[in-house]
Amino acid sequence: MSGTVPRGDNEDPALEILRRVFGYPSFRGRQAEIIRHIIDGGDALVLMPTGGGKSLCYQIPALVRPGVGVVVSPLIALMRDQVMALRQAGVRAAYLNSSMSWSEAVEVERAVAEGRLDLLYVAPERLVTPRFMDLLARAPLALFALDEAHCVSQWGHDFRPEYLQLSILHQTFPDVPRIALTATADAQTRADIAARLDLVRAEQFIASFDRPNIRYRVVPKKEPRHQLIGFIRDNHAEDAGIVYCLSRAKVDDTAAWLRNEGFDALPYHAGLDSSTRESNQDHFIRHEGVIMVATVAFGMGIDKPNVRFVAHLDVPRSLEAYYQETGRAGRDGLPATAWMAYGIADVVAMRSMLEGSETPDAQKRIERTKLDALIGYCETAMCRRAVLLSYFGEQQAEPCGNCDTCLEPVSTWDATVPVQKALAAVYRTGQRFGVGHLIDVLRGVATEKILKFGHDQIKTFGLGADLPKASWQSIYRQLVAHGLLQVDPEGFGGMRLGDNAMEVLKGGRPIQLRRDPEVLTRRARAAAGGRKAEAAGSGGDPWPDPQDAALWRDLKACRLELARAEGIPPYMIFHDSTLVEMVQRRPRDLNAMANVPGVGSRKLERYGEDFLEVIRHGD
Ligand code: ADP
Ligand code: ZN
Repeated sequence: MSGTVPRGDNEDPALEILRRVFGYPSFRGRQAEIIRHIIDGGDALVLMPTGGGKSLCYQIPALVRPGVGVVVSPLIALMRDQVMALRQAGVRAAYLNSSMSWSEAVEVERAVAEGRLDLLYVAPERLVTPRFMDLLARAPLALFALDEAHCVSQWGHDFRPEYLQLSILHQTFPDVPRIALTATADAQTRADIAARLDLVRAEQFIASFDRPNIRYRVVPKKEPRHQLIGFIRDNHAEDAGIVYCLSRAKVDDTAAWLRNEGFDALPYHAGLDSSTRESNQDHFIRHEGVIMVATVAFGMGIDKPNVRFVAHLDVPRSLEAYYQETGRAGRDGLPATAWMAYGIADVVAMRSMLEGSETPDAQKRIERTKLDALIGYCETAMCRRAVLLSYFGEQQAEPCGNCDTCLEPVSTWDATVPVQKALAAVYRTGQRFGVGHLIDVLRGVATEKILKFGHDQIKTFGLGADLPKASWQSIYRQLVAHGLLQVDPEGFGGMRLGDNAMEVLKGGRPIQLRRDPEVLTRRARAAAGGRKAEAAGSGGDPWPDPQDAALWRDLKACRLELARAEGIPPYMIFHDSTLVEMVQRRPRDLNAMANVPGVGSRKLERYGEDFLEVIRHGD
């Protein structure tokens, strides 16, 4: 059956499995090294970003080594997904968790004892029970894989006390190799994992945390919903994506609005009952092109590889959170976008929330630094990827060429005089008013509030009528980012002069600011006839050739039909990346089909003819 894959006589068993079972021609990054190390009985700590290909690092050694590979995984949904995907590829895999009946569990235990399984996924709380340890003692064991290993760390973002007990594995079965895996980057968590899981002497494999297929974009907020829809229509009209909002109400509103605009969008937040949440998540996973509008409650345990965009309508809590949340895009390695709309109100809200909170001072200092880093990322005129990676301690040699500032370099301008006016407006109104009011003062708008406080009488009134409101917003935003203005913790977003503001106000220092990219408002977009945002450097049409585009659609339709019939998500038939290869290669027969990356022997047998039919039909 495996004769379709070309291979040498003395082929390495790991490579043979990679090709025959998973259908991939070669290993990626350090996969080969890691797999060899485990097969040889070593312990490993693997740090790789999401989408880096961690699963194969333990799945293949489990298939090569005799006995069952035991995989500890904290999320039931993820476990189920992985097992289903493995079975699709013809691997003997099963899971044990609290969602199954007693008789189902007994059946799995029997399979383990009789050596009929290659991979067993298990929840940590189950693993350490006497019954389970007893089962392990009776079965030959290939390895222990500890997935999401950062759960053992109290520093981490999702600490699970059950993980602390996992060191018992090593004590009881000292000869079984262990591999701990995580996508969490920082050094503190890494050291913590090694110490707590008794892996200090394990070899560490640390990959770059760069996600080169993700394009980073940040736009100044103007009409956020319209900007969002413009972004989706121009770049991801038929794609699945996640839109993050801060509040539940905004999630509901935004989802309703997107539906109204013709998108298949659903809400997800902790305020929805669990059956609605589950069915919305299920819809997202099982259908194509669904947009999930969600709070941060959504995303953990979502394994969907073809999420093509992650959009933030509100700023995330920190750059760590941003990296995590945007990391859910493009797990399959195909182009994806991380898009954020960011405005002065966000900065003000975050600053005043922090300053006004009861948090102890030391903690506040840390939070302040994190917030500064986030704002720095939003306001940078340099490569965004470089800023993001340097936050995680990685230096990038060259600008990436795949973020908005690389694609459309931002210009800076000499803003010394307008900045003096902006600061003067703060100073002369008594350092307690918010940006909206300050801009009215500068632009000479005689609102009721202006008249009430007599601000039409001060020297600054109308002094900034030469610049539009958006420019003043941009200026104020950047002044806060640079620390020249501070958000008053007591007031409601009132502005005070920051440390060096006086010096600037008195003309002691020139100031360069970043020029905001032009934001197309709804009216401007309509006037432009909804033209593609080519100038904005959008990804453009992935299939310029209409025949390719048609074939791509047909292949996806075929996949969806098969997935429906089997009751599984489409990506478990084939990943998008595999369909893309089919469009490019147009395999004519089963032999050619076997060479398409992602088509293993089992899937070739089951689905090969169906997809060949579609390809032949397309000509
Ligand atoms: P992680 O668990 O690190 O997020 P996965 O194990 O889910 O990543 O792998 C991410 C994607 O990369 C999957 O679509 C997987 O099939 C694919 N992949 C992994 N290793 C290879 C490889 N050697 N060649 C091609 N694709 C691979
Ligand atoms: Zn860049």
